[in-house]
This record gives sequence, structure tokens and C-alpha cells, in this order.
Amino acid sequence: MSRHHPDLVMCRKQPGIVTGRLCERCEGKCVICDSLVSQTTPARICDECNYGSFQGKCIVCGNQGVADAYYCIECTILEKDRDGCPKIVNVGTAKIDLVYEKKKYKR
Ligand SMILES: [Zn+2]
Ligand SMILES: [Zn+2]
Ligand SMILES: [Zn+2]
Repeated sequence: MSRHHPDLVMCRKQPGIVTGRLCERCEGKCVICDSLVSQTTPARICDECNYGSFQGKCIVCGNQGVADAYYCIECTILEKDRDGCPKIVNVGTAKIDLVYEKKKYKR
């Protein structure tokens, strides 16, 4: 089972009624384990993660969302869908990419 980057931290607040969104690049992936099959349970996010500029944005990387986010069957069975809001909160992929770029230039 592939995992998100270990540095990524999820929000884990009490989810509201809004289903998270995924961008073109992240679409179809389970928000927990990146599985591309058996998307089962809509991934609900907390009100804060759907607030203002976050609204409609990909909950994994912050790009413009194009599809609903889901948990796969495996994560649903493991009740990962009950762990709270799955939005990645520490850094967006864009920022991570920037850090990577900087590191690359330094080396
Ligand atoms: Zn994305
Ligand atoms: Zn999963
Ligand atoms: Zn949240």
C-alpha cells in the first residue's frame, strides 16, 4: 500500500457535511492511501477546510478541485474515514515542489 509523503499532516478535525475535492492530478485516488480502485466513501472535510480560498480546492495539494474525494474500500473497512478531516494541512504540493527545487539548486 503506497502512502502519502510521511511529512504530510492531515487536519483531523470533525468533518462537516462538505465532501472534499480533488484536482485533475489527484482525482480518483483514495485520500488516505492513494489507492486508485474501489473508491467507496465520500471524504468529508471540516468547515475550516472548506472556508474561503480553500473552497473547492484539492484537499491533497490545493489545486483547483475537479472531482469529489473518496476513501477506498480498504480505508473504509479500517474506519480511516472516521479519523476526521483528511485534508493535508501542513504544506501544499506546490510549496513542496518549491522546496525540492531549491534543494536541487543548492546541491
Ligand atoms: Zn490535487
Ligand atoms: Zn485508501
Ligand atoms: Zn479540516
